[in-house]
Amino acid sequence: MAGLLIVISGPSGAGKGTIYNSILERMPEIVTSISVTTRHPRKTETDGVEYFFRTEEEFSKMIANDELLEYARVFDHHYGTPKKHVMDVVESGRTIMLEIDVKGAEQIKRKFPSCVGIFVMPPSFEVLERRLRGRATDSEESIVKRLSEAKGELSTYKLFDYIVFNDNLHDAIDQTVSIIKAERNKICRNETKIKQLLK
Ligand code: 5GP
Repeated sequence: MAGLLIVISGPSGAGKGTIYNSILERMPEIVTSISVTTRHPRKTETDGVEYFFRTEEEFSKMIANDELLEYARVFDHHYGTPKKHVMDVVESGRTIMLEIDVKGAEQIKRKFPSCVGIFVMPPSFEVLERRLRGRATDSEESIVKRLSEAKGELSTYKLFDYIVFNDNLHDAIDQTVSIIKAERNKICRNETKIKQLLK
């Protein structure tokens, strides 16, 4: 793998979306991926911006055509990462970052062990609940579901390479930036450059 594939994951409400967006502001060279989902757009969302909103039938076709790098059912809806875009970016030597659920992260880690998995951990369940309720974009039913799934998701942390405790957002963002920078400096990711220097 020539470029760097970073996967940010963790339970819903842990703050991975906020960290993801802040990293993109701080490191604008990082390429993003727009996921496909079968859920309906929220009032503030536009097709092709936050997600590609598709029907179940269209989503199934994408699976059948092997167009998705990973996909998972997350709270009643399907979500998946379009494969071609990610592969093109990685092959070109650039960095791409995904923000996906833990089931999807697990699939990517299996396919590409050299990807960098960053797990965002909430400081406590009380904080997680407060954050989910504070978003006010989801129904009570959906909040309860997200909370009950969070425990299972937290126990998958061992699949990941790094953990970021999000009790202070600024620290969590700083830590994530440091992880990405350190990963770029790994010897194994710079062999070609080093060999050229030593020629
Ligand atoms: P939301 O519906 O709140 O935008 O996202 C719900 C969950 O789906 C979040 O945990 C988010 O990380 C996850 N998600 C978004 N895109 C993808 C994707 O492409 N694949 C997987 N596996 N999960 C995704």
